[in-house]
Amino acid sequence: MVREQGLSVPFPERTFATVDHIIPTTSKGRQRPLMDPLAEEMLQHIEKNTADYGINFFSPDKNDQGIVHVIGPERGLTQPGMTIACGDSHTSTHGAFGTLAFGIGTSQVADVLATQTLAMAKLKVRRINFTGSLNPGVYAKDVALAYINRLGVNGGVGYAYEFGGEIIDNMTMEERMTVCNMAIEGGARCGYANPDQTTFDYLKGRDYCPEGEAWERAVTDWQSLASDADSDYDDTVEVKGEDIEPFVTWGITPAQSVGVSQELPAVGSFEEADQLVVKEAYEYMSFEEGQPIAGTPINVVFIGSCTNGRLSDLREAAKFVKGKKVAADVRALAVPGSQEVARQAVDEGLDKVFDEAGFQWREAGCSMCLAMNPDQLSGNEISASTSNRNFKGRQGSPTGRTLLMSPAMAAVAALEGKVTDVRDHLED
Ligand code: SF4
Repeated sequence: MVREQGLSVPFPERTFATVDHIIPTTSKGRQRPLMDPLAEEMLQHIEKNTADYGINFFSPDKNDQGIVHVIGPERGLTQPGMTIACGDSHTSTHGAFGTLAFGIGTSQVADVLATQTLAMAKLKVRRINFTGSLNPGVYAKDVALAYINRLGVNGGVGYAYEFGGEIIDNMTMEERMTVCNMAIEGGARCGYANPDQTTFDYLKGRDYCPEGEAWERAVTDWQSLASDADSDYDDTVEVKGEDIEPFVTWGITPAQSVGVSQELPAVGSFEEADQLVVKEAYEYMSFEEGQPIAGTPINVVFIGSCTNGRLSDLREAAKFVKGKKVAADVRALAVPGSQEVARQAVDEGLDKVFDEAGFQWREAGCSMCLAMNPDQLSGNEISASTSNRNFKGRQGSPTGRTLLMSPAMAAVAALEGKVTDVRDHLED
């Protein structure tokens, strides 16, 4: 679009590219030309366009490719106070660093490339305070699913979500990224956490971060960005950490979820306006009101994505599968979010842990999060997935069914072949 309009990219040094949705995750599948001619064409386009316009392309050839929301933070490109835009909904992830980060449409990408600006309406701000602490077996993914369950998939429309409270303060950056990643699933335009020492410690020494005196100046500047304790918000919500249990989605939106010890809700328990989509979910999923979610048989397990494809996610899942075997007939994939995550995981021997347990250890990419590469569900398979969307057909089969959960929950689902409460496996 930039080329067609005779425009240029005035700030190529502020623009970065990678390939994630379309890239196959097996070494054979990555051989060029890619088997899928459309994917090959897209890859050739990005290679040519980034070369023509002087844009840094994190590519498989250079061994620095990965999911955009994984490589931005890991390279230190994502820094507090920045405004970041990317042609993918889950750009909200970067808000974990105290950035304003927006997922935008393709034509807006062209606008940003050509002007380095973005036209937007002012957002309201909802502060979501997570108080107390999380019980064992409860993870950042459960925190994300909990606020979406509470506020709904449209609850955040017109809002930026600012996440805070002791639980967020005590989280690692990777956990904060998981929480912010799913803000978009709650309808919010972006997610945000205040930058603090955890943020600075994570960023220090990363490739694109300032060094020496410039680093000291940057940290002083970043410290000034955090919201004041007495800030006014358009809305404030409190979620008690102790009330959150491991969550599993049962329906076709990320808000249709229950705690793993619970039964699926009655249609009549929802507001009348929501009952249609609840009925639609039951019909699509072939589940019944009142059935327990635990024990639901699983065909496929996917551990990966920009929500849960980072090193800490793989480590956590590996703890549960180490020395165990994936249940017969379960197809299980462990997919690092970037080539750098893959390297670190291999250094720690995580690839072997997954391999010996019967998982397929894959190359970096979005994989089975969506249906744009060869990793897909078939028929009406049920997948235990650490990704962020359970929409109809999201994982490649028009009748495929997705249950979202944390990496630990997905790991034990792989071992048991059914939805299982990870808290029963904590002592193993
Ligand atoms: S992992 Fe899924 S949600 Fe994240 S960028 Fe890839 S396709 Fe989008």
